[in-house]
Amino acid sequence: MAERVLEVKDLEKSFGALKATNGASLDLRPGEIHALIGPNGAGKSTLINQISGALAPDAGSIRFLGTDITMLDTARRARMGLARTFQISSLAQEFSALRNVMLAVQARQGTSLRFFRPVMRDASLTEPAMRMLSRVGLAGRANVPAAALSHGERRQLEIAVALAMEPKAFLLDEPMAGMGPEGSKALTGFLHGLRQEAPILLVEHDMDAVFALADRVSVLVYGRIIATGSVSEIRNDPEVRRAYLGE
Ligand code: ADP
Ligand code: MG
Repeated sequence: MAERVLEVKDLEKSFGALKATNGASLDLRPGEIHALIGPNGAGKSTLINQISGALAPDAGSIRFLGTDITMLDTARRARMGLARTFQISSLAQEFSALRNVMLAVQARQGTSLRFFRPVMRDASLTEPAMRMLSRVGLAGRANVPAAALSHGERRQLEIAVALAMEPKAFLLDEPMAGMGPEGSKALTGFLHGLRQEAPILLVEHDMDAVFALADRVSVLVYGRIIATGSVSEIRNDPEVRRAYLGE
């Protein structure tokens, strides 16, 4: 595997006069959780959106598994194994949790002929889909429509959908948002194990979760990464404390 799963170099993105991304560089290494933190409006989601392909950068480059993906669309990046979950839910609300994951498994298998078979009884889809649901702790909710799940359960389901794509890296933008303490704790444990399979670029404002989980932390302020380091390096960095922790 490439030494750097993801390499983001000198990205720039403006919205009118606002430089939302101002020369940001970071990388993601095999097996790690790399947390991206920073105040509200610092440009975390804008950066993640450029990495996933939802937004085109004005300048800079993005390499994934050694390939320059800067100009590729979201679907191509997803097929290469770059998975993301959204701050805004992208689930088929009327479908059951199981069916949502099965659709992702099916998309991964890329077999459109299956369309003509009774999908819900197709074990080549139900079995892997149930496995993904179990891994995120949702097996008992398989038949519940996405719309009827709690907010936290929907976040778990989004991750199961992402898992079904057999990702090589995860981009997670505030996956704990709106979760209760139990959901956050379960998700923290799950992410901890997940990084072995695929490294995770994690945007999270819950600092307890970040400090418990992250192998490295990057701090984004006004569209610039002002520091990257281990949890203890970041906690003790005077510039970070001044710019972000408000000291
Ligand atoms: P964060 O995720 O760190 O809270 P965002 O990336 O959402 O920050 O936003 C960074 C800045 O860019 C903010 O000032 C925000 O208002 C602005 N912004 C984000 N998206 C857009 C957009 N589509 N059009 C105009 N301004 C935007
Ligand atoms: Mg955001």
